[in-house]
Amino acid sequence: MSKIVVIGCVAGGASAAAKARRVDEQAEIVVFEKGPYVSFANCGLPYYISGQIPHKKSLLLQTPESFWKRFRVQIRVLHEVLKIDRESKTVIVKNLQTLSEFEEKYDTLVLSPGAQAVVPPMPGITLSNIFTVKTVPEADLIKGYIEKNKPKTAAVIGAGFIGLEMAEALHMLGLHVTVIEKLPQVLPPLDAEMADFVSRHLMRKGIHLVLNDGIKAFHGDNTANALELESGNRVPMDLAILSIGVRPELKLAKEAGLTIGEAGGIEVDECQQTSDPSVFAAGDAVESISYVSDHKTRIPLAGPANKQGRAAGANAAGQKLFFTGAQGTAIVKTMGITAAKTGFSAREAVQAGFKFFESYTHSSDHATYYPGADTMHIKLVVEQDSGRVLGAQIVGKEGVDKRIDVLAAAVFSDLKVFDLEKLDLAYAPQFSSAKDPVIMAGFAASNVLRKDVQTLTCEGLKKKIDQKENFQLVDVRTPGEFASGHLPGAVSVPIDDLRERISELDSQKQTIVYCRVGLRGYLAYRILKQNGFQEIYNLSGGILSCQALMGQEQPGEQMHVKTSHGETVPVQALKQIMTDKSCLAIDVREKDEFSYEHIQGTSLFPLSRLSSQIRSLPKDKALYV
Ligand code: FAD
Repeated sequence: MSKIVVIGCVAGGASAAAKARRVDEQAEIVVFEKGPYVSFANCGLPYYISGQIPHKKSLLLQTPESFWKRFRVQIRVLHEVLKIDRESKTVIVKNLQTLSEFEEKYDTLVLSPGAQAVVPPMPGITLSNIFTVKTVPEADLIKGYIEKNKPKTAAVIGAGFIGLEMAEALHMLGLHVTVIEKLPQVLPPLDAEMADFVSRHLMRKGIHLVLNDGIKAFHGDNTANALELESGNRVPMDLAILSIGVRPELKLAKEAGLTIGEAGGIEVDECQQTSDPSVFAAGDAVESISYVSDHKTRIPLAGPANKQGRAAGANAAGQKLFFTGAQGTAIVKTMGITAAKTGFSAREAVQAGFKFFESYTHSSDHATYYPGADTMHIKLVVEQDSGRVLGAQIVGKEGVDKRIDVLAAAVFSDLKVFDLEKLDLAYAPQFSSAKDPVIMAGFAASNVLRKDVQTLTCEGLKKKIDQKENFQLVDVRTPGEFASGHLPGAVSVPIDDLRERISELDSQKQTIVYCRVGLRGYLAYRILKQNGFQEIYNLSGGILSCQALMGQEQPGEQMHVKTSHGETVPVQALKQIMTDKSCLAIDVREKDEFSYEHIQGTSLFPLSRLSSQIRSLPKDKALYV
């Protein structure tokens, strides 16, 4: 009878133990876990803290008793493995309750110690109201602190996935939340212009964002009452959450002389076997192969950890099972907006040496004629010559999850953007459009590869402006849209007038066209191309992908709305007024602007069609515009 010992009992370790049992009914399987809980859902911790998951027991997917009953696996909680002796195939274990130490033999060992939350050394860091969110006891500490001390302000340090989930949780509990991020953007795995949609949304929802500034110190006596930033600014706070990333837990592996790979994790092969044939490893502590570049990488996420654990457990028990790699598919929802990513961002594609282009689309998440449609921003990173989808990023409100999973399957299968055009995806108006956002993204990127259009990113346009290149910039939106804000130096030639007014433009001059989302710009490109214009670019994704150049705010809570009597009222007041049935609020922007975002309860009457629709406006109601 072989003996399998597992270290760590969460995603990787628990999966390994259960799989090992399914492979070998006779093996003796022992798991050591230094914490008090096993197989807990750390991904659910922010929702437990907010109260959306009301009971702790919902997070505890297994207990040592249930594991024993179902799998005949012995789990020893509050037992820390101190050392691995590979010579004698033994681990030295400390019982954290009795403090006694003992040895345990193994034939094969699975190592899944996870990762630690990074806690940078700095003045005040040990003050009692500064927390990390990694385990159930830590979540309990945060909940307990909030219940007892009723903090009013919170600082969340680090605007990654966990940081933004915690910002939402604390906001839901009524705290004023400041999110502090050292980088100039939130959600560092995303490219900056995609993360920008999330930042703007968070600010509109009342989250205070401090970007481009790191923390230097916490100030206070027993508890911190303020933190100091590298810029010298101070942020008052009653509670702080540190979510600045995780570091693989490598102590045991290093001391045992296991090879640590170039990406900084335990090196393993496709069987999750380490440099010692008797030792397997899984989860946040190991390296895996990137499906996109075939290089070693680290992807500290639950999906890979579970699958690696499954492979490690099978192989430790004698069955060959492979884990071939991962691509970092991830998703987060915060304050009503969802951001997701699969494969490489543009930044990662540059680092890996790919030749690629970026393509943006802003489609409606479902048919605009069915209530509740919203804009879904999609960015594709596409290999230049082959058209292979290297990665995708999506920001939107509904349906982001299914689109990112379709694109994850595309990245995994090495699909080309031409394949995205051909996908046969489900459509009914509640769920999608006849041309799904993924298919629209495929159309836009394929048009570039077929040379039906030449696109330019916002970054590319900025460069041309900075280098003072000689070009004409043409805004093909309606005069109303142009008047509400446009790129500096642009001339207005609405798409529907372009054929008549084409002589106003110089066909020999480099021409850059843009609209709001890229579609009318594409139409303009085709008209100009067929009228002898030599060098034309369409701004990919239109000005929605270029907010940094626009510097224009979207409609938000701070906005004011004009009434038909000429006075202005704040949006908040309007919401109250609109509960009165004798009032009507109309939004006079264009349909795509309206579907991007609008004040709930307002009706769309685009200015361009207002005169023809004016009869349908009720005369007996107070009108807000
Ligand atoms: P862990 O889950 O960290 O488990 C390792 C265990 O090993 C720990 O319990 C530790 O106590 C134990 N251990 C360590 N050393 C020893 C030792 N010497 N002796 C005994 N025991 C030891 N991923 C997603 O994909 N989606 C999400 O939405 C998501 N949300 C998250 C939210 C939060 C708040 C956190 C913290 C993580 C989230 N993750 C998410 C990441 C995901 O939880 C991890 O990738 C996954 O849990 C890693 O599994 P693991 O087994 O490698 O490590």
